[in-house]
Amino acid sequence: MKEKNLQKNDTKIINFEELNWKQIERLDKNKTIFFLPISPLEEHGPHLPVGTDLLTVRDVATEAIKFLNKERPDLSYVLLPVVPLGYCKFNADFPGSISVSGKIVKDIVYSFGSSLANHGFKFLIICTYHMAIAHIKGIYSAMKKLESDFGMRTSEPWGPYYHSNEIEKREPKLGFDTSKEVHAGFRETSLMKYQYPYLVDGSYKNLQNIYRDMNSPRVLGKTFKQLGLKDGYIGSPARADADYGRWFFNETVNVFVRSALDLYEGKKPPELPNHIKLAMKALFWQ
Ligand SMILES: [Zn+2]
Repeated sequence: MKEKNLQKNDTKIINFEELNWKQIERLDKNKTIFFLPISPLEEHGPHLPVGTDLLTVRDVATEAIKFLNKERPDLSYVLLPVVPLGYCKFNADFPGSISVSGKIVKDIVYSFGSSLANHGFKFLIICTYHMAIAHIKGIYSAMKKLESDFGMRTSEPWGPYYHSNEIEKREPKLGFDTSKEVHAGFRETSLMKYQYPYLVDGSYKNLQNIYRDMNSPRVLGKTFKQLGLKDGYIGSPARADADYGRWFFNETVNVFVRSALDLYEGKKPPELPNHIKLAMKALFWQ
């Protein structure tokens, strides 16, 4: 009987939901890396879709797997379906934001990981593009428990990169301060202009620059509307540029590819900076 082809040396993506349990059982437990995309549906200003983070992280994981298929065809890469959930209570005063608690994020990630680990799988990459502290606290708590309960090797590549300001260090020089681009601003609008131009509302060109220091203690516990962010974005979306979007997308793909290889080779994954770890510790589950 001809079996469904799980070729590794081509650009075919193995989608978990398309496999039967026999095919899953046959995957080499020591050589299969699972990718779990998880990001919430969340308002992204009046100009970007609520699935901005979710679409980005799914596409980045897909591209990373295509690259890895060529680079390391001796390993298998399985893309799990996108979990469209995360903590985003701070902008849930806009329609379109669906928020769950960080504790639920933890339970979901742990459930995926432990269900796979129970069948001998060892490698899991959690792909998120959403950087809210309560959300990543959920992810990192689950990762810690998966490592201690099963010895599962896990990694979340984007948090350490993002929170160490690596983007500002590596991006092409732009002539303005991109560190203030927080949400649905220049970066994300550029990214969507590159990946999904038809989903970007043309009104972005007329949006004023709006900035808030989201690390300030004064913003703690406040919603976007309470902070006067009546359109739901922080940054300068009008500057968006598809060429930058392409750079940013490819950079993100590279970060994921590197993390997957490091994870497999047993290298210690990059850590979140201390101020983020402290913030996670200080935060009660919400
Ligand atoms: Zn976003």
